[in-house]
Amino acid sequence: MKFVSYWHDTAPAFAGAAQGPVSGHYDVAVIGAGFTGLAAARQLARSGAKVVVLEAERVGFGASGRNGGHLNNGLAHSYLGAKAELGKERAIALYHALDDSIDTIKALIAEEGIDCNFRRSGKLKLASKPKHFEAIARNFEALNKECDPETALLSPEDLRSEVGSPFHGAMLSKKSAMMHMGRYVVGLADAAVRHGATIFEGTTVTGHHELNGTHTLQTSRGSVTVANVIMATGAYTTKNFTWFRRRIIAVGSFLIATRPLTNAEAQAVMPGNRTCVNTMNIGNYWRLAPDNRLIFGGRARFSATSDQRSDSKSGEILRDSMERIFPQLKGIDIDYCWGGLVDMTADRYPRAGFHDGLWYAMGYSGHGAQLSTHLGMTIADAILGKADRNPMQNYPWPAVPGHFGKPWFLPLVGQYYKMLDKFQ
Ligand SMILES: Cc1cc2nc3c(=O)[nH]c(=O)nc-3n(C[C@H](O)[C@H](O)[C@H](O)COP(=O)(O)OP(=O)(O)OC[C@H]3O[C@@H](n4cnc5c(N)ncnc54)[C@H](O)[C@@H]3O)c2cc1C
Repeated sequence: MKFVSYWHDTAPAFAGAAQGPVSGHYDVAVIGAGFTGLAAARQLARSGAKVVVLEAERVGFGASGRNGGHLNNGLAHSYLGAKAELGKERAIALYHALDDSIDTIKALIAEEGIDCNFRRSGKLKLASKPKHFEAIARNFEALNKECDPETALLSPEDLRSEVGSPFHGAMLSKKSAMMHMGRYVVGLADAAVRHGATIFEGTTVTGHHELNGTHTLQTSRGSVTVANVIMATGAYTTKNFTWFRRRIIAVGSFLIATRPLTNAEAQAVMPGNRTCVNTMNIGNYWRLAPDNRLIFGGRARFSATSDQRSDSKSGEILRDSMERIFPQLKGIDIDYCWGGLVDMTADRYPRAGFHDGLWYAMGYSGHGAQLSTHLGMTIADAILGKADRNPMQNYPWPAVPGHFGKPWFLPLVGQYYKMLDKFQ
């Protein structure tokens, strides 16, 4: 078994990183080379801005190269819940931003010629318990009428041709998609460079100050001066950016990938070949990879770390969950096991905007594989003086009380969700 992300292992290496010392003056510095940062850099560079991307590790090192590969167009919340919390107008705007994100990615891939197995697969939200289906049905009623007519309610019978495991019904979101995340992130970086952006890998931003509208960024390899800075650092935000660290909760999420399934096995497990997520609070998500592996993920443990030890512990838990849902896969070889940090906010709504001289987009709370491209481009457009399409514009973002970067409270949250899963 390899303890490495399947996406990292099966994507071409990015070969366009700039060499030599980090120096000079740029219009915009983007900190972080995940989807957010690279989409922003590409958008700015193609409009003629002089852009530098500063990445501590390598392109796609963070969540963008480690996720489940689902481009789902729903929110982290139920539509009814979001409507109650955000108001109808903002809830619909945010939902449509997720829809638009998938269209944006599809168009970008076509424009830049990125070969990343993009497919409009549709997503199933599968009810694990009968009363979960009642909640799905209530939500569907409002969502379908007010916001997304391309949704459908499926009965347990309908699901027989979709998933090789019994569930109590589901909601189908037809606009959702899937793709190869590693090929996309490298393709996005190549595109940004083609448009004129400079990308430095192995370059951690260690210090920042601003004087009269000019920012100086110190890095492990030199320093640059810039007119604008975009924070695209998500769950991997380093200690020196305290304001963001107090607002982003980095939560471990983990995945396993089986050996490639034969066509008969794939047909038995996932005849519908869509992205799937179940309704448990400590839930699971899965899909088939381009080479027919089952990629199966979940929170598994409420951990703030992802390293080989932590990932392998979670991998064992995930194997159990996978075999419970798909007993037909009992004992199958697991070829990959990996984890990453999800950029959660306390209310699980994303945030994008401008604070104390810094532009930012982050906090996608498990729904960032698509929204990050969209909000990265939205922030770039705001810098370019174009119309602001940010659905979370001016939405308050208070610090998480008692949180200074290490989420000590995660085990308590885990216990709480375990209890909910027992009784709800
Ligand atoms: C296991 C897992 C499964 C997921 N599954 C899904 C899914 O199926 N669908 C979905 O929609 N979302 C999913 N997500 C969430 C999604 O992947 C993220 O929201 C999204 O990739 C965030 O992209 P980003 O560019 O904002 O951040 P990242 O991709 O995390 O990039 C941030 C980068 O910033 C760099 N950085 C940080 N600080 C500094 C610094 N000081 N100097 C220089 N560089 C710095 C880091 O090295 C990192 O490369 C998942 C996440 C994980 C971890």
